[in-house]
Amino acid sequence: MKRSDLIPVMLLLPVLGFVAVQAMHTRAITATTQAASLAPASRVHKKHSASHTMESAASIGESSDDNSTLDYDVDMKTRDVIDIRRRIQLGENGTYIGEILGERDSALARWPERLTTPVRVWVGSGPEIAGWDPSYPERVRDAFDQWANLGIPVKFTFVRDSTDADVHVSWIDHFDSPISGKTIWARDGKWWIVTANITLALHHNAGELLDSKAVRAIALHEVGHLLGLDHTADTANIMTARVRVRDLSEADRATMKLLYSLPPGSVK
Ligand SMILES: [Zn+2]
Repeated sequence: MKRSDLIPVMLLLPVLGFVAVQAMHTRAITATTQAASLAPASRVHKKHSASHTMESAASIGESSDDNSTLDYDVDMKTRDVIDIRRRIQLGENGTYIGEILGERDSALARWPERLTTPVRVWVGSGPEIAGWDPSYPERVRDAFDQWANLGIPVKFTFVRDSTDADVHVSWIDHFDSPISGKTIWARDGKWWIVTANITLALHHNAGELLDSKAVRAIALHEVGHLLGLDHTADTANIMTARVRVRDLSEADRATMKLLYSLPPGSVK
């Protein structure tokens, strides 16, 4: 039985490029760390205050379930940082890994290998929300598959029971701030992501209904966060802060593949 720190990170997707409204990018990363048990069958409830947002500070609550990912922990004492830096240098052409390292204080976070034990994803529905489209859960599942099909060592399986899931996707009418999606993930002390939750809005916070292509694009963006990507300035990519494209770019694909060829943690 191991104990590790769980550090939740909240990533917010601001206004989509599909709507005309422009807004400041909002992004919040929690700075709080608390010890939490990862013992099997345990359930930990923690509250963290988000800080470092440009527009507002939000309080988030995070609950994390145990999973079996710690079996893949890297022994941090034997991590060869110089070798990891060399591999980044060799592979960074055509990627935005440098921007991610800049945003994360030179640290990478990712899921451990989950091919034999796929990440369990529960996708909720929101028929009570105005503008709900019954095809949305399938669009979200497709967003997960788009990333997984890149050949990264993470597979997803979609479960009916939310209590059995590593990842939850839920829906709201709109956020109170100018964002359209939000991802909160938690990592352990070795930068392995262990759990994540995505919230998707059906409307921009100014009231416009997001169309189905926009919802899918937001889902692609948020699943990118869930897997460990951060923002890039290039608006040709799905991981730009204000999403303007609807599909993964070559740089999105290359960055994800490079991330999953590297161990997580600091490369300082
Ligand atoms: Zn984002």
